[in-house]
Amino acid sequence: MEKYCNLIGGKLIKPSTDEYFENINPADRTDIIGLFPKSGKKDIDLAVKAAKKAFPGWSKTTPPKRGRLIFEAGRLLIERKEELAKVIVREMGKTMPEAVGDIQSSADVAYFMAGEGRRLYGQTTFSELDKRWALTKRTPVGVCGLITAWNAPMAIVTWKLFPALICGNTTIVKPSEDTPLTAHLLGEIIKEAGFPDGVVNIVYGLGPETGEALVVNDDVDLISFTGSSKVGKAISEECGRRLKKCSLELGGKNGLIVMDDADLEVAAQAVASGAFSTAGQRCASTSRVFAHEKVYFQFMDKLIEKTKKMKIGPGTDPETKICPIINERQLKNIKKYIDEAVAEGSKLVYGGKILADGLYTKGNFLEPTIFTEVDVKSRLAQEEIFGPVLAVFKVRSLTEAVKLLNDSPYGLTASVFTNRIDDALNALDVIQAGVCYINAPTFGSEVHMPFGGLKDSGNGMREPGTQAMDVFSEWKTIYLDYSNISQNSQFKDD
Ligand code: NAD
Repeated sequence: MEKYCNLIGGKLIKPSTDEYFENINPADRTDIIGLFPKSGKKDIDLAVKAAKKAFPGWSKTTPPKRGRLIFEAGRLLIERKEELAKVIVREMGKTMPEAVGDIQSSADVAYFMAGEGRRLYGQTTFSELDKRWALTKRTPVGVCGLITAWNAPMAIVTWKLFPALICGNTTIVKPSEDTPLTAHLLGEIIKEAGFPDGVVNIVYGLGPETGEALVVNDDVDLISFTGSSKVGKAISEECGRRLKKCSLELGGKNGLIVMDDADLEVAAQAVASGAFSTAGQRCASTSRVFAHEKVYFQFMDKLIEKTKKMKIGPGTDPETKICPIINERQLKNIKKYIDEAVAEGSKLVYGGKILADGLYTKGNFLEPTIFTEVDVKSRLAQEEIFGPVLAVFKVRSLTEAVKLLNDSPYGLTASVFTNRIDDALNALDVIQAGVCYINAPTFGSEVHMPFGGLKDSGNGMREPGTQAMDVFSEWKTIYLDYSNISQNSQFKDD
């Protein structure tokens, strides 16, 4: 069984702990993909040292030159797209088209950020005083710790990494313990693209040990985290105590409204896809639907018909639409939510069972699950389940739908299906979500646009888009005076 190493200062280095964890295929638990380091504080400290050492050189490299290396990384991602996507299918479980999308979006962000190397615009404006320029320019933050989730294993890392690099930061990536091989291959690409040693370091390990060691290291200037709101809040507290910059991309409980004039065929397809593709394991998955009473039954018929057609299976099967659940712990966790909802009186109208026979014996497979008659205050309606579980509510008006949609601790994405422009715009005015769609599924963000959520879905930061520059750089304000006198804007100084 191959034992993988951390990438520190350009070298592959064994963990100081000499301990490893198994990387397991969620479609076939007997398939152990490799052993990855259970790194400890010592390993993190070594990686931080390497990143700190690389910082002066990298931050002085001009942004267009940094951009060239990022562009090359993008090119290599495209060149190795098939191979990388197959690895994602094996270690994360999603289907091949979904995995290819993950790599494509990583290359897209590389190209976008490479171009940003020729922009990174600041401002030049006038001063209150004569013979003085007022300017701003971006400067790097320093050493950045990037801690990531598993559900889009390449995209989540690269959506942070390439903005961090173009701004001149050096980095330590702590990828999810469920998808370390994708990160290892990204490390290969980073080396081949020609980044100087220490600019990108990758340290594997478990959250509370390896991740936390990165957060509390005082030489790490910024933490960018994608994961659950619970862990995000704990990281935010640690960063707050240290006045460390912190960007959090967290969970969602995304709602979709179907109005009485909506195209029900399209809406049902968007819901089936949003709730059940990637087995609902997306921060932007649809987990609540609010359907107008006039079309509720028609919509439900179409939704169930479309759901029935979605084949559950391993990501390697080209017919599969619903992939396995990432690990056994999460499978049990989702099933607990389902059983609890049934016990509390919610109506289970479709699915709900773990599949363990035949094709499904070795993997973590669960039926797509639809509930109706759900108590809006129940855990099913309020908590992020991160699985293929949907609650559908019958509503009488747009006002009621928006009120229920907003009745959530989360505010990541939302969607409204209607052909009435006033309904769409009225809803957009008041929906509490960072990313809103009209007549589209609740997922599918693009790399040139900001992504992020309100309330428990984040802390106000946005990655990627040009807004990611605000996460990964600091503004420096410069007054350039050529008056040959000591002047200031507060008082006359003779
Ligand atoms: P998680 O919070 O369990 O783990 C995320 C990462 O944090 C992992 O690398 C983990 O090892 C690390 N970690 C865990 N505990 C830690 C600690 N105490 N200190 C430091 N690091 C720690 O989340 P997950 O199960 O990997 O991912 C699923 C979650 O991610 C869902 O809530 C989902 O909505 C969210 N997510 C959000 C976005 C977004 O952009 N908003 C995107 C994808 C996933």
